[in-house]
Amino acid sequence: MIVGIDAGGTLIKVAYTENGTLHFDKYPIAEIQQVASWVNDLSDSDICITGGKSGVLLSLLDKKALEMVEFEATHLGVQFLLEKMGRDDDSYLLTNVGTGTSIHCVENNQQERIGGTGIGGGTLVGLSRLLTGVMDYEEMVALARKGSRDRIDLKVKHIYEGKTPPISGELTASNFGNKIFEVAHELSKEELLAAVIGLVGETVSTVSVHAAKQCNNSTIIYIGSSFFHNPLLKEVVESYTVLRGAVPLFLENGEYSGAVGAMSVL
Ligand code: ADP
Repeated sequence: MIVGIDAGGTLIKVAYTENGTLHFDKYPIAEIQQVASWVNDLSDSDICITGGKSGVLLSLLDKKALEMVEFEATHLGVQFLLEKMGRDDDSYLLTNVGTGTSIHCVENNQQERIGGTGIGGGTLVGLSRLLTGVMDYEEMVALARKGSRDRIDLKVKHIYEGKTPPISGELTASNFGNKIFEVAHELSKEELLAAVIGLVGETVSTVSVHAAKQCNNSTIIYIGSSFFHNPLLKEVVESYTVLRGAVPLFLENGEYSGAVGAMSVL
């Protein structure tokens, strides 16, 4: 069996081929020992590990495994997954919305990390929990879908009352900047969760669009587990990226890019 593992800050992503079929699995980082035991029990396997927690996982293994830098693995995995989608892009901006957000410029199949932001999936989970007490990721993203940001976010058109604004009135002037203290006691979990996802999605896409200009490319490929079962984040990122003049693409199984890339060198 050929196994690629991306041990990240929040989740461990595993990609492996068995009888020619590609499989994906993910586990919370708290289950790193169980993942190590699974790997240790594999007979006849080649393993490559990447990600910030690769050292921890390697220390728990009783067999040899390759290790590789996560940016290289992610880039290789993205190329593989793009091909699977029938695409042959070799120049684009890549935004990985993991626990934090990492941004890479890919030109002629060479990647360079050009920046990032601490606003990412970890922010989504952390702020959501603080504001609403909801702890489960799946519950957070499901509730957020039912919420409206209207009472929480201030849009440009709200400021330019009765006048035509010089920029799109649909842009957010201030996340959480509406008169929320007047309605603070009435705000539902759904509204608060939707606003947190709005904050994360708009920040990530705004930073990405600026980075795409620096990279001379208008295609932005978004990956990372923050999009998993999270249609609202996808919607916010997609519409904000388009509104700001770039072309978004969400890679199928993009959260497994690092794991697939690690597997592909074996
Ligand atoms: P990392 O490599 O840093 O672990 P990921 O790309 O795996 O990053 O993304 C982690 C983010 O994915 C979390 O911060 C959270 O927003 C989201 N996420 C998706 N599924 C889950 C889950 N089951 N439990 C916790 N977070 C999840």
